[in-house]
This record gives sequence, C-alpha cells and structure tokens, in this order.
Amino acid sequence: MTAHRDPTAPEPTTTHGDRAAGAPTTTVAAPNAAGTRRRVPRTDVLLADPAIARRVADLGRDLVKATVTEMQQRCRDGAIAPESVPAAVLDALPPRAATGRPVVNATGVLLHTNLGRAPLSAAARAAVAASCGTGDLELDLRTGRRGVRGAGTLAALRAAVPVAQAALVVNNNAAAVVLAATALAAGREIVLSRGELVQIGDGFRLPDLLASTGARLHEVGTTNWTSAEDYRAAVGPDAGLIVKLHRSNFTISGFTAEAGIGELAGLGVPVLADLGSGLLVPHPLLPDEPDATTALREGADVVCFSADKLLGGPQAGVLLGNAATLDRLRRHPLYRALRADKMTLAALEATLRGPAPPVAAALDADPADRMRRATALAHLLRASGIEAAAERSDGVVGGGSAPGVRLVSGAVRLPTRYGELLRGGDPAVLGRVADDGCLLDVLAVDPADDRLLADAVLAVARCR
Ligand SMILES: *Cc1c(COP(=O)(O)O)cnc(C)c1O
Repeated sequence: MTAHRDPTAPEPTTTHGDRAAGAPTTTVAAPNAAGTRRRVPRTDVLLADPAIARRVADLGRDLVKATVTEMQQRCRDGAIAPESVPAAVLDALPPRAATGRPVVNATGVLLHTNLGRAPLSAAARAAVAASCGTGDLELDLRTGRRGVRGAGTLAALRAAVPVAQAALVVNNNAAAVVLAATALAAGREIVLSRGELVQIGDGFRLPDLLASTGARLHEVGTTNWTSAEDYRAAVGPDAGLIVKLHRSNFTISGFTAEAGIGELAGLGVPVLADLGSGLLVPHPLLPDEPDATTALREGADVVCFSADKLLGGPQAGVLLGNAATLDRLRRHPLYRALRADKMTLAALEATLRGPAPPVAAALDADPADRMRRATALAHLLRASGIEAAAERSDGVVGGGSAPGVRLVSGAVRLPTRYGELLRGGDPAVLGRVADDGCLLDVLAVDPADDRLLADAVLAVARCR
C-alpha cells in the first residue's frame, strides 16, 4: 500500500470525530493529504453501499458506522487507497452477529456435546423462528385470560407418553433433577444406589448436584450390586425421595444386580427416575436405554430426561409423571427460575409433533446406506485428486446415551493434516483423527449435507 502523504509535510489534521463544542478547528494540511481527504469516500456513500447496507441489517448501524469511520481514518492516513475502503470495511466486520459458527459433525458421534448435541429438525427451526415475537405463550386466546405456559408443548408431551398424567419443561435435565430433588426432598434424605453415582461431562457429578439441593444422600448397595432389600432397609422416616439414575455414559457388567423401578415403587417414598437420554418408548437398537413410558408404567412417580439427546430436540429438561407430584414441582418457587423459554417450548413441540428429527432419522437409517454415502463421497473427492478412501466405521450415540452401543457407519479417510484444515474451513467440519488419518464419518451428517461436506473438503484442498 502506498502512502499518499508527503513525508516532509506536517501531520494532517482530521476534521472528523467529536470536537469540543465551539472549539475552532484549524485545518493545516499538506497538499497531498488534502487531496486524499477529498477522495476519502463519504460516510453516507459507504453506508449506502449494498454489501455494507446488508451488514447494517445484520450487525446494527453503530458497529458498521464505527468501522466505516475507522477505515476512513486509515484512508486519510494513507494506509488504504480510497477505492479500497468499502472492501476494508467489509473485511473488518465480524462474520455474523451471533457467536456460534455452524460445524458439520463428521465425528461419528451422533450426539456431540461440544457441538451442541441434537440438531433441530426443519420443523423445529421454523417453530423457533415463529415463536420469537409475541405469542400466546401464557394466554388463552379463546377467553382472553392467562393460560397454561406452553400448553401446546405439554399436550404434545402427554400425547407422546399417554401414561404420563402431567408434564413440565425446564432448562435442561440437570435443572429437572434439581427441581425434583428440591421440591420433594430438601432437608430430607435421597436414597440412591452406589452403582449410580454418575459423573457427567465437564467434571459435574450427579450426586453433588443432588446434595446441592440441601438433601442428604443415603447411599445403598455396592458399585456392582444393589437389591430392592437395600433400598427397603434404607427408607426410614427421613427419606423424601428414591432416585434411580441411568448409567448413561458407562456400563457395569459381570456379577451385577440392580433393583427395578417396580420394586421401589411400593416403598412409600416417591421415586424419581433420571433417564438421561430421552427415549419416550423403547427403541429396538438401544435395548439398554430406559424409556419414559416403561419407567412410568413400572411405577416411577416422576421421570426426567434431556430433550436434546435421543429425543432430538432443543436443550431442555422434561419431567413427566403423576399429576399430584408434578403439581408440587410446578408450584415450587425454584420452577420459576428454571422454566424453559418460549423458543425452547416451540422447538420441543415441533420436535414431538413434526417429522422425525435428524437424530431419529440417523439412528433409524440403514447402515448400508451410510457406507454407500461414504463411498460416493470418497469417489467424488478422488476425482479431484484428493487422497480419499471409504472405510467401515464404528459410530456411537454419544452425549451421555447408550454407552457401549456401536452404530455401523461409513467414513472417508483423508490424510491427517485435513483434520486441522477442515476445522478452519467454511463451514467448519469436525472429523475424527485416528490411526494416522482424518476420518469423516457420515453417521451424524444429514444426507442432504453430503454435497456441502464434499465442497468443504474441496475448498480447503484448493487453498492448501
Ligand atoms: C445427560 C444427563 C444429565 C444432564 O442432562 P443435561 O440436559 O445436560 O442437563 C443428567 N442425568 C443423566 C443420567 C444424563 O445422562
């Protein structure tokens, strides 16, 4: 970039920016600097540039205007040529207003917690957009009076799990556990098995979460063996709640026993089953995952689970159970701090009522189809000179669901260096680096995005 200023001339004085009211501004400028200043594109002209105007719609006028002012100054200083100012403004603006870049999940982990777990269905995305404004969230339009918050979502949950008398939606499953434990057992005992003291992601431990409510944990049984008799012996006058926690991210095998919900239901204390992963009914591919219908049928008073795991919906915690218990939870002051927002409620309702969300579609897809997709992808990439080969891959459900279950999948193996290149691409792609290669597993990739995935690889291969 050439400087437009005569190096022997005094520093040019700028005439833009805040001036002290009434303070006279003297403009002493070298002829060259004055020439540049005349050619600095005007603010109104820059803001009317169609590409810049689009960014105003996206980022707001203040940020764009500040960037325009900054680039005008750099132009005056001779750092950029007048004709380059619009491009410099566009370059300096952030790519989008919101944090969070889209990432193609090619990890082979269907529910990747670091990638935001379940992607929403098109119906759920549309419902979120439609719910953003004002709506009948807590209004009965027939009577004009206050209505039940998220009535449509609660009705959809009860329709999906008819054995549940009532439903409640909170921020996430951890919130559901805290609400139930607080409302039913604060200051009393929670009885739970030593085989169910689970640590979930990022160092959080469910027993610590339970204890944080002010309840005392009464552990029973051993790591591998807990019988109904162990619970019965522990349930005394101080017991407020029995908790059955799903071992959602590990398995215990060998010499093991645990009590079923049916055996705990008759002990005179409410039973909460934390199911973790959100199956509403049994799933043939996931025989060891608990489901809400079965747990309630067996006698759980309340079940809770995450809506963004196997249910394939938004981040939320769902509580289902008998009407009296759910009413206690809804009336508890803590509910007010934990309840779900309108966009979440809309997304959840659309997930339940609409077409199968991507997680369910991926789980139920034919494994041979995944291999075919990987083969087609590898073929396409090889045709562009990229070292790519399809191979069979073992995918997992992930996200604290179905530990030990392998989902037969297909992947494209690329040279290892692609792992980093693809993370920096647009869209970013997260693969799995394994055995001296970068694997792009199609398990969690929407089949409609296969072309997008191929283009992302081709783009980084080109600019390497
Ligand atoms: C995932 C999980 C949780 C936490 O759920 P969030 O929705 O992430 O708060 C709690 N309990 C179990 C058993 C889980 O698997």
